[in-house]
Amino acid sequence: MWIKNKVWKPLLIVGIFCCALAVTLVIYVDRLEQELNEEIVSVLKETSEQNVVILNKEVEGKFILLEAVANRLADCEVFEPERELKELQKEVKQHSLKRIGIIMADGTTYTTDQKQLELGDKENILGSMKGKRVISRRIRSQTNGEDIIVFSVPIYKNNEVHAVVFSTHGIDEIQQMLSVSIFDGAGYSYIVETNGNIVINTAAHGGFAEYENIYTALENSSASNSKVVRNMREDLQYNKSGYIYFHNKVDKYMYYSPLPIRDWYVLSVVPADIMDSTKNNIMILTYVLCGILAIAYGILISYIIQTEKKKQKELTDILYVDTVTGGYSYARFCAEAAQRLKKTSLSAAYIVMDIDQFKIVNELFGYEAGDATLRYIWRIWRICSRADEVYARRIADQYVVLWFFDSREELHERVEDFLEILQKSYSNNISEYMLKATLGIYLVKDKSEEIQNMMNYATMAHSAVKGKEDTTYTFYDDDFKHKLLNDKLLADQMKRALRHREFIVYYQPKYNVMTKKLVGAEALVRWKRRDGSIMMPGRFIPLAEKSGFINYLDKYVFAEVCRKQKEWLKAGGHTVPISVNLSRRHLYSDNFMEEYKEMVEQAEVPARYLQLELTESAIFENKEELCQIIDTLHAMGFSIQMDDFGTGYSSLMMLKSVPIDVLKLDKSFVDDFDDPKGQKIITSVINLAQELHIEVTAEGVETKEQYEFLRNLGCNTIQGFYFSRPMPEEEFEKLLSMSAIEPDGKLENETVPSYT
Ligand code: C2E
Ligand code: CA
Ligand code: CA
Repeated sequence: MWIKNKVWKPLLIVGIFCCALAVTLVIYVDRLEQELNEEIVSVLKETSEQNVVILNKEVEGKFILLEAVANRLADCEVFEPERELKELQKEVKQHSLKRIGIIMADGTTYTTDQKQLELGDKENILGSMKGKRVISRRIRSQTNGEDIIVFSVPIYKNNEVHAVVFSTHGIDEIQQMLSVSIFDGAGYSYIVETNGNIVINTAAHGGFAEYENIYTALENSSASNSKVVRNMREDLQYNKSGYIYFHNKVDKYMYYSPLPIRDWYVLSVVPADIMDSTKNNIMILTYVLCGILAIAYGILISYIIQTEKKKQKELTDILYVDTVTGGYSYARFCAEAAQRLKKTSLSAAYIVMDIDQFKIVNELFGYEAGDATLRYIWRIWRICSRADEVYARRIADQYVVLWFFDSREELHERVEDFLEILQKSYSNNISEYMLKATLGIYLVKDKSEEIQNMMNYATMAHSAVKGKEDTTYTFYDDDFKHKLLNDKLLADQMKRALRHREFIVYYQPKYNVMTKKLVGAEALVRWKRRDGSIMMPGRFIPLAEKSGFINYLDKYVFAEVCRKQKEWLKAGGHTVPISVNLSRRHLYSDNFMEEYKEMVEQAEVPARYLQLELTESAIFENKEELCQIIDTLHAMGFSIQMDDFGTGYSSLMMLKSVPIDVLKLDKSFVDDFDDPKGQKIITSVINLAQELHIEVTAEGVETKEQYEFLRNLGCNTIQGFYFSRPMPEEEFEKLLSMSAIEPDGKLENETVPSYT
């Protein structure tokens, strides 16, 4: 869905950004590790080189001491061994030597401790005899089995080597030289020969104290060391420095740098964890930073998602929520309906419903009350619908609904239940006006059909019922299609029928309640079909109203009534005022008043014999304009009757502002006469009308009880089957002539003729 795409965009950007960041971090961490490793090696190298410097210094110190002794001896004019050795004794003590010795050119040897010469390989003597400074290998002492190292220098006399002076040093002493603290004591050093033989071992914990050769030691301590040992061997052979990473119980670094003494090397060893701890700290810090960044990005992403979701919700709300009811919007309805229709195994029906003349609610009670009513109707739909069904307000007071059902009877029942609850809102005083609903229902045939098509069918059924007095709902089915077709045919035939004078006027008499005298009549149109059948206005008036043909028809009926009145007046002079219906549409059309005036003038009938019936809903179109129209009609001499009072959104107060002459109480009011509430309404309507000097005509009076009830209330006129049904003109003509002769007709006991 498009909304999801909207989330993906920022997510993609953030995602790409995070990937780039992650890659950068990986590269950075890798580089950092490399640099830290280099740093470790350089620290190790430095330590190692420091060792070399210290050793060199120490060795140099020992040679300087020996050379000082050699110089002193050289300066002696006469060499007196005992005396000299006594002097040298001090040096031995002072410098913690094993001994100092002198070897004369002839091989005579003098030592400070009178021990035998210990230079097993004579390397020192030979070297120093040649004028060199010499340090011996590690030698096992012949005198006491201790390991020693011997330093020797020549004694010159007259520029010739005259003798050799040497000093013997215990291994411990040399070892001391190496005891520079490495890494706060965690590291230690060795001195080895190129062949790996250990010259100075270490006593440090974890060292190779028990080994004599460093290669053997390394190879024995871990198989994984063999490769590094190979590299190290090679380096040492070529006098190179370098480092290895080896394993001996723990991982360690070893740096090797050559000493300028013999073929010796200094090895500096440090456990990897010590070296790595700084690196690890930095790495941990880096990882923590990465973690923080990841969390920050996580928060950022969720923030973006949240904001996007919120935005979406706002958008969805605008798109999918109806602002008035808080329920689904029409868009949401369509989406939901399509889905739910797919899921259900039941039969389905789309319903389009609205309230007759709803705009009157707004006009009378204000938009807030109008909205409250719309919400109320929505709640009724909610009550009447099941969980899997959908309902929504489409526009204005129109609702759309998708219902599921097993049988058509069930659907009928549910629709009736809905209408009943809606009706109750008025009788229970929830709504101050009668809500009359109209429903169009489409029974789904093919669930895969476009929802818009199905909604159209329901809407067509709905508009077909709209404005019909007797029908509340209808189905769009084959009958309906047939009816639509018929309606179209009828509408097409009307013009021709009018030309052929197929429309005839029936008259329904009106009687004075008290005197039971004929006091008027209502002209009611019928369509006499060519086959002789009579079609009732309920069938064709709505069609005529829809097409606008009603204007011609009303005018025709009015003209017919004028013509008849003129005839009756001419003939006997006795007639009664006849009211003619005027459709709402007609009332507001241009020229209407001029045309009617003209017709009356042409007929030469006094206007008091003509009355106009306006339906109650006409009042609400435009009250000011209506009052003007009524005033003009009054001026022309017409009496104005308000038809169907009580069916629409009557307000008694409205009676005060619209200058009508007669109020025609609708049949539905009269039917309610035995209900206490109905009685109360009729009573107050009649009372108010009397106060305002408005006459009341009760319509649809069918029974004696109704008649008596209305008479007792002071109703003025009665129109209903109880007295007379609408009758053809000839019949009415007879009635007129009868009433002229017999003003007190015994109508009460007469059988009522049927002329419908
Ligand atoms: P309406 O103007 O309210 O006319 C009264 C209707 O009530 C008439 O129906 C009449 O036959 C019926 N009626 C009178 N007394 C009784 C009674 O005691 N019981 C029952 N059940 N019905 C009673 P009709 O003639 O079928 O006319 C129906 C509607 O058609 C009229 O209602 C009016 O709105 C419309 N109509 C008739 N003729 C014309 C016309 O020339 N022009 C216009 N615009 N509308 C007309
Ligand atoms: Ca009428
Ligand atoms: Ca009426």
